[in-house]
Amino acid sequence: MHRQSLVEYGKPLQDTEAPTPAPAGTEVLLRVTHCGVCHSDLHLQDGYFDLGGGKQLDVRGNRPLPFTFGHEIAGTVEALGPEAKGVAKGQRYAAYPWIGCGNCGLCKRGDEHLCNAPRVLGVTVDGGYATHVLVPHPRYLLDVEGIAPEIAGPLMCSGLTGYGAIKKALPFLRVGPLLIVGLGGVGMMGLQFARALTDKPIFVADLDEGKRKAALELGATEVFDPADAGARKAIQKASGGGVGAAVDFAGSDKSFVFAHAPVAKGGAAIVVGLFGGSFSMPVPMLPLRALTIMGSYVASPAEAAEMLALVKAGKVKPIPVETRPLAETSRSLDDLRAGKIVGRVVITP
Ligand SMILES: [Zn+2]
Ligand SMILES: [Zn+2]
Repeated sequence: MHRQSLVEYGKPLQDTEAPTPAPAGTEVLLRVTHCGVCHSDLHLQDGYFDLGGGKQLDVRGNRPLPFTFGHEIAGTVEALGPEAKGVAKGQRYAAYPWIGCGNCGLCKRGDEHLCNAPRVLGVTVDGGYATHVLVPHPRYLLDVEGIAPEIAGPLMCSGLTGYGAIKKALPFLRVGPLLIVGLGGVGMMGLQFARALTDKPIFVADLDEGKRKAALELGATEVFDPADAGARKAIQKASGGGVGAAVDFAGSDKSFVFAHAPVAKGGAAIVVGLFGGSFSMPVPMLPLRALTIMGSYVASPAEAAEMLALVKAGKVKPIPVETRPLAETSRSLDDLRAGKIVGRVVITP
């Protein structure tokens, strides 16, 4: 099999070759047809996350090099282990990549995406920037019949991330409207899921005028420019005293300060993005505002199935996608880093 692999942190990916794995036990070998290029791959390529104040979170782990990234995978079944049941050769699936150990309490209650001994495709085990990928069990293969193959992979990342965050926000919308901060790919998915799941007003804040316009086209009630000094007051006014939940899809110190400020008493500020930075607030403000601050990280396998049902019901407009061959994976990461990509680049190995 051919792969585009990391051979050294901070360096471009390289073409590597390896024997195509033979699936054992419950494993399934997918022929990768599509794999989305994701912003989180940039942090993995660097080997760290920026924590602000000059601090870094090392994410090199014990990853053996060469290592193949790519967690937004769609493909067809090419071979099955003897105990892999319920899927057949030639069938088309998206791979749920946020796979856990399967044995711990988190995995047993269905939260595999939070497992502390993860086997995440393209993050802790080899992923989809390759002609083939090994999936440990058919239960991680999700039926994507009726969904365009080039958006099926990204749905497992930006779709799930947006869906998981909006689901956490829903109970707080009894307090007030929803505020979405940052309308990149994930924010755009979040906005659409929110539109499908609530009748409450949805406000969107983004620095970019084009993105604010896109938000209105996707059903945002009102849009705001965080660079506008009056934006916070305008959100307070439009929401009648504060929003019920603010979802920060950027996840920087600046975006979070902006996002939590207009949350009403009893509401929640939910951080999704991993841009980086640090944040402090006076501790008494938490009880005085009855403020919930929480993080949201992708979503569970059960939520993946719920999300796909919404997509199949036509509730989500596909994000703009550009397909590129496997050899252009590294260039695509560079383009993403340089902010040159609108929508999603999807590799077609
Ligand atoms: Zn991703
Ligand atoms: Zn586990």
